[in-house]
Amino acid sequence: MFAKDIGIDLGTSNVLIHVKGKGIELNEPSVVAVDPAAKSMVAVGEEAHRMIGRTPGNIQVMRPLKDGVIADFDSTEAMLKGFIDRLKVRGWFSKPRILICCPTDVTSVEQKAIKEAVQKSGGRQVFLEAEPKVAAIGAGMDIYQPSGNMVIDIGGGTTDVAVLSMGDIVTSASIKIAGNTFDNDIIQSIKKNHKLLIGERTAEDVKIAVTSLFPGGEEKELAIRGRDLVSGLPRTVTITSKEVSDAMEESVAWILHTAKNVLEKTPPELSADIIDRGIILTGGGALLRGLDQLLAEELKVPVFTAEDPLACVAKGTGIMLDSLDKKRRKS
Ligand code: ADP
Ligand code: MG
Repeated sequence: MFAKDIGIDLGTSNVLIHVKGKGIELNEPSVVAVDPAAKSMVAVGEEAHRMIGRTPGNIQVMRPLKDGVIADFDSTEAMLKGFIDRLKVRGWFSKPRILICCPTDVTSVEQKAIKEAVQKSGGRQVFLEAEPKVAAIGAGMDIYQPSGNMVIDIGGGTTDVAVLSMGDIVTSASIKIAGNTFDNDIIQSIKKNHKLLIGERTAEDVKIAVTSLFPGGEEKELAIRGRDLVSGLPRTVTITSKEVSDAMEESVAWILHTAKNVLEKTPPELSADIIDRGIILTGGGALLRGLDQLLAEELKVPVFTAEDPLACVAKGTGIMLDSLDKKRRKS
């Protein structure tokens, strides 16, 4: 048995792994639970995610990545190893080749750290690719033509905006405002308006269920529970779409501003192509209700949400792994 090549989307929120010839075989939150005293790993992925905010004092639940880069090297390595082991992609005598994505503006030191973590967790040869490029390929864009393509990837920790042509990034920007920022905006707003403290997971539920960013869009509401800041007792309040979009307004404005900046730096021929082809939204944040319409109106360019935006990068790694061998055979 030979080792199978794999593509990894190492995201701040989720890790997805594409196994060549099979498809996406793993999709789990990037979370680990450790017992610091015993220096042991208690759980990884889904199992660890369920423990967020619910652990006793001796167990620590953490996210090994922050803002798209490795915040804790050891736990990133342990998490990747846990995931790769589960897939049984190793051959009898060989290790898999691994293609992994990183944000556009990581430093060379950070790049090296990512490569090293992957190598240690079981890779033979490691290829690093810029995430927006892979996201665009996974969203079905043909980025290898001499024509402009624009993608906005809104993940958990970062939003990456890029214009691509002939297989490479022409202009790009990355900001640390994305899904987690929205969750935090919601936590702060509920604290201020309702004197109620809610957890990260509840904030994310609110975001997914009731966000409606485009004026005049669908209005929703959700009853949520938290801890009253004054009495300290559990209490329920109802949150509306208006309240959530107000809370997220500033963060959304930053994303808009970043996209505008990238468009302004883009050579005119490529801008003209983008007016024709539109902008593609990928990453979990692409699912925010009304965001596509809002961006389209503000940027005066058509905006489309990719099909299955959370899986674009992983799908893209699959496509790139296939072409890796084709290139080899030609040369
Ligand atoms: P990363 O690449 O950083 O791991 P992902 O592309 O996996 O990020 O997206 C994760 C983010 O998308 C999280 O902040 C999550 O809350 C958000 N998200 C997931 N589904 C939705 C949804 N339906 N609406 C809005 N946000 C969503
Ligand atoms: Mg991502």
